[in-house]
Amino acid sequence: MFKKLNILDEKDKRLRMISKDVQFPLSAEDKELIDRMIEELTYSQIEEYEKKYNLRPGTGLAFPQLGLLKRIIVIVDEYEKGKFENYVVVNPVIVSNSKEMIAADVGEGCLSVNREVEGHVPRYARVTVEGYDIDGNKIKIRAREELAIAFQHEIDHLNGILFFDRINKDKPFFSEYEIRLI
Ligand code: ZN
Repeated sequence: MFKKLNILDEKDKRLRMISKDVQFPLSAEDKELIDRMIEELTYSQIEEYEKKYNLRPGTGLAFPQLGLLKRIIVIVDEYEKGKFENYVVVNPVIVSNSKEMIAADVGEGCLSVNREVEGHVPRYARVTVEGYDIDGNKIKIRAREELAIAFQHEIDHLNGILFFDRINKDKPFFSEYEIRLI
């Protein structure tokens, strides 16, 4: 039976806290939660289930959004229509990034932010993320474009940062000349 996750709203103070590094082995509860996050994120990107379970489409979630201040992120990337790649990274760190900056043309959204927030969020076009898989093996992921944005968005959650913090209030929109819009 599918049971929806209880995702915290932006007003919850836990979303503004710094999450702690996770020790291995992961607890059974944490592993189960990761499975549920993957399931819900996948369902949310498949129209039939999105409607059936009344989900908001999302590609990523971080543990603090579920009230747990642990450095774990989950991203379900639809790299091709109907095909998904799951990324679970424990204690993720961005170890290198491109100089080039991009922003999602339509802005960003967040499953903890239940309103439209307009504005471009500047992000690195490419990042290399290091961390651990659920078994504690060291992993390294190179991400670009939308996937790079997703990693930066989720890692921000571990540091108490929400995407709209990064929107320049005096100049919320960039032109194609100033930043590459994707
Ligand atoms: Zn978010």
